[in-house]
Amino acid sequence: MTRYIFVTGGVVSSLGKGLAAAALGALLQARGYSVRLRKLDPYLNVDPGTMSPYQHGEVYVTDDGAETDLDLGHYERFTGVPSRQSDNVTAGRIYQQILGKERRGEYLGATVQVIPHVTDAIKDFALDETSGTDFIICEIGGTVGDIEGLPFFEAIRQLGNELGRERTMFIHLTLVPYIAAAGELKTKPTQHSVKELRSIGIQPDILLCRCDHEIPPSSRRKIGLFCNVSEKNVIQARDVTSIYEVPLRYHEEGFDDRVLDHFGLAKSTPLDLSQWEEIVRRALEPDGEVTIAIVGKYTELKDAYKSLSEALTHGGIANNVRVKQTWIEAEVFETEGAVHQLEEVDGILVPGGFGERGTGGKIAAATFARERNVPYFGICFGMQMAVVESARNVAGITGANSTEFGPCDDPVVGLMEEWIKESAVERRSEEDDLGGTMRLGAYPAKLIEGSKVHRIYGETEISERHRHRYEVNTNYMAKLEEGGMLFSGLSPDGRLPEIVEIPKHPWFIGVQFHPELKSKPFDPHPLFSSFIEAALAQSRLV
Ligand code: GLN
Repeated sequence: MTRYIFVTGGVVSSLGKGLAAAALGALLQARGYSVRLRKLDPYLNVDPGTMSPYQHGEVYVTDDGAETDLDLGHYERFTGVPSRQSDNVTAGRIYQQILGKERRGEYLGATVQVIPHVTDAIKDFALDETSGTDFIICEIGGTVGDIEGLPFFEAIRQLGNELGRERTMFIHLTLVPYIAAAGELKTKPTQHSVKELRSIGIQPDILLCRCDHEIPPSSRRKIGLFCNVSEKNVIQARDVTSIYEVPLRYHEEGFDDRVLDHFGLAKSTPLDLSQWEEIVRRALEPDGEVTIAIVGKYTELKDAYKSLSEALTHGGIANNVRVKQTWIEAEVFETEGAVHQLEEVDGILVPGGFGERGTGGKIAAATFARERNVPYFGICFGMQMAVVESARNVAGITGANSTEFGPCDDPVVGLMEEWIKESAVERRSEEDDLGGTMRLGAYPAKLIEGSKVHRIYGETEISERHRHRYEVNTNYMAKLEEGGMLFSGLSPDGRLPEIVEIPKHPWFIGVQFHPELKSKPFDPHPLFSSFIEAALAQSRLV
């Protein structure tokens, strides 16, 4: 029997609902249950693919090619369960579906309304593809009280009735702020938030209270009393140093016990959290440090590169070192001589990105890494820029550029009009809509025997997730290889370059895909482990 846990948030956004849901997933797994996590987003975009990373943070891509909310990245990193398109829905997608049906006349003359049509579509989404899973944890985006969230709250309220309270549970995450002037924790925001939730018919079963000070029993009692929640179900969620501590701290607070109590489930399975203890030990007490410069565009908003920053941490965990991340705006390196800043770092990473701004700086960083033998990791756009760099400065292709920035003499990076995915032909053109038309999701690649990436992966066939429109142009492959770059990974039909490397360099690798999306703290991605290992070797040279 599948049980449903709905996670809502109150008071303010950014309290870490996604992490809370992910950590609960990890705890239930540690108890021997299977879990699946889902995100229901009330905004009107069909998916976050067209939203600026400044607004919404990273777009997380699934194997089946969905562009989703970054919380799905947390879910995967904490549970290891690969997310799918069916794990993220937005109000925009729901309305798109409903309006399509309405135009096709599928409502048979009925007036199409929020209740029941929108709420039914939301419920269908929550209940879809769940068989065989013990727990579905559904996070509702935004905070209670948001106008656009109402149909979602109404839908989960209905599910509480329809499935029965023994199969559903409501967890509400709130804030218990410490007011320094008064020297006290304040419970009022939580009371108001729960009042709001109850006014739309949802009585929370557990309150998770984010706080930076210990919540004393008297305050828990008060929260319980005013919010109609039993005192032992008022759980404190203290700030932590590493996000990977969250499952451990929640467990100490009895969170997983309270959840299982609610469902009347036995706690007999021995709980093994040693994996998380070891991850936290390595994250908090490492044996050294390396510094990695990340030369990108959205560097002031860390959420824009959430998975990347986590994957670097995982690479550190694999090598038992702390990875100090120095985020640098690429444009900085467009000033003469500025690349010298990079002399201090042990590795350079140019991540994914879009558009021309800052490319001069990214190319300058790649030149510096190539010439100075500093480990270089180019991801997606970072690979494309490394190829442009080698084309211009090594292979003598002076007019080399990407057609992403307009027509050029030597399109070493360009638009491939078509290619094959699972025996169907995929097409792209300059005129396509921007939403959902990139090369998205998992694609296989074949690695060259004996190449560095072959050694790193330990196999010659891999599958990685993509999100890009442009490709490295194979017409320039021979010239680039003469210049010392090896095309060490290609699509199985040989038409799409997936990986380039410079064999003479200690560690210079560019990948067309996003390896960071599949890295986990308990299973660091081999490319990140190897990159950090190379950076560690570099740090011993300096
Ligand atoms: N802008 C490049 C493209 O569309 C790279 C995209 C990326 O780095 N994700 O191909």
